Amino acid sequence: MSLQVWIDGQYFNKEDAKISVFDHGLLYGDGVFEGIRVYSGKIFECKAHLQRLYDSAKAIRLTIPYTPDELEKAIQETIRINRFEDCYIRLVVTRGTGTLGLDPNRCPRASVIIIADSIRLYPQEMYEKGMSVITSSVMRNHPNALSPRIKSLNYLNNILAKIEAIDAGVPEAIMLNPEGYVAECTSDNIFIIRRGVVYTPPVSDGALEGVTRSVIMNLCQSSFIPIQEKRIERHDLYIADECFLTGTAAEVIPVTRIDGRQVGSGKPGPITQKLLEAFHKFVRLIEN
Ligand code: PMP
Repeated sequence: MSLQVWIDGQYFNKEDAKISVFDHGLLYGDGVFEGIRVYSGKIFECKAHLQRLYDSAKAIRLTIPYTPDELEKAIQETIRINRFEDCYIRLVVTRGTGTLGLDPNRCPRASVIIIADSIRLYPQEMYEKGMSVITSSVMRNHPNALSPRIKSLNYLNNILAKIEAIDAGVPEAIMLNPEGYVAECTSDNIFIIRRGVVYTPPVSDGALEGVTRSVIMNLCQSSFIPIQEKRIERHDLYIADECFLTGTAAEVIPVTRIDGRQVGSGKPGPITQKLLEAFHKFVRLIEN
């Protein structure tokens, strides 16, 4: 059976899952989305993802034509129909089909798409040995232009930073905010560790309120590892003892080189490893 994609309450074979060329999601990147993991048949942190989706939609004046409960049921059904145990969900809400021209009022109804599929961003080796990253010359969107807290369909600034990373021969780039402080990566949040304390940039410095970020912050607390939200300069990255990234698709991945500088010993550090293990234990435990 072909992969089944949910669009506005109906299932389509992967090959037939299509939307209009007049959809403002395509024409203008006008919409919001979520990436969600499913572990052992359970939607991981479903409420947090749905909350962020509805918050993002509200911020861009987009009405989602379903309740959060209806969307949760639709996700569950899509997982079941595709017989997935572990998978990745892409939940997309577009402004809907309209006319040429920006006016969102020409789009009578938002469209909702649920794709369930597998995802692997990075090779297993990088999770064991760590990854190299660069800091990008492409800055994170200024909050007065487009709040980085909105998970919108317009990822162009992240994509430009990602291209810069690929050109440099690394898989991820760290983005700074317009003031020059570290915000996050193109699709992951960032954490550094120095002298036993874990630091991550505050949301006000341009970080997305990552669901995995919150889980890691809670795991630090329950494991008695000191954690602080703090402004991070590029220099702090260079003198960090350890560094790791978090994201739904990436999960938790150690960083061992930044802009050509070795991080700590050059191997994933002890606190990173402890948190990585705690994370994998946590995602498997919550099913009970
Ligand atoms: N930052 C950005 C820009 C993202 O797109 C994402 C999601 N992939 C994240 C951070 C991580 O957030 P989460 O843990 O909720 O997936």
